[in-house]
Amino acid sequence: MIKSKKKGDLIVISGPSGCGKDSICNKVIKKRKNIQISVSMTTREKRQGEKEGKDYYFVTKEEFEKSIENDDLLEYAIVHEKDYYGTPKSNLFKILEDGIDVILIIDIQGALQIKEKYPEAIFIFILPPSMRELKKRLIKRGSETKESMFRRFKSMYKEINEIVKYNYVVVNDELDDAVNKVIAILDSQKCRVDRIEELDVSSIEEVMHEDLVDLND
Ligand code: 5GP
Repeated sequence: MIKSKKKGDLIVISGPSGCGKDSICNKVIKKRKNIQISVSMTTREKRQGEKEGKDYYFVTKEEFEKSIENDDLLEYAIVHEKDYYGTPKSNLFKILEDGIDVILIIDIQGALQIKEKYPEAIFIFILPPSMRELKKRLIKRGSETKESMFRRFKSMYKEINEIVKYNYVVVNDELDDAVNKVIAILDSQKCRVDRIEELDVSSIEEVMHEDLVDLND
């Protein structure tokens, strides 16, 4: 009776470093079909255990700037006042057309660029249960120097008011709860009336004109 658009959703996820964005998204893609995480390009140094093409495409500043020049990026930003990060266009729109959802895990500056170019995207902001908890998680992760941690909190301080430009906020207190909330948001998106492409009323007419006797069979 209802034919809805098969097109995939573009999902933008932002939140401070250490709030668990990657853990949430990795669990979401394991639990759902037809969804993938876009791999960003960055000039930041590879951390221990990170893999080229899986975590990021690690490039030099010159290579990144060449990609900007060639218009190869859907959005990009200098994050935490230091490194370039950007979303390669590659075949993103073709993937969406094929009905696959795509998650972009990007910062607020990038999210605002996507909002301009692709307003129908879903914008989700992830928050830690508290800032003290976030600091604890970052110290435990051991990936940040004192200076880079300070820069990360400084970005957050500057950007937190932009949270109102997102559609949803999810507090990552308990990982599985946060994952379920993100999945619920994605599910609800598929039920939006603006996805309806065709409303076929012929079956209503058919049933309306049926003999009541037929229904008792
Ligand atoms: P990290 O260095 O911890 O991997 O990432 C730092 C921040 O960069 C993250 O908070 C993430 O949201 C942001 N980021 C990662 N990829 C992109 C991207 O492609 N574009 C933008 N604008 N930000 C990104």
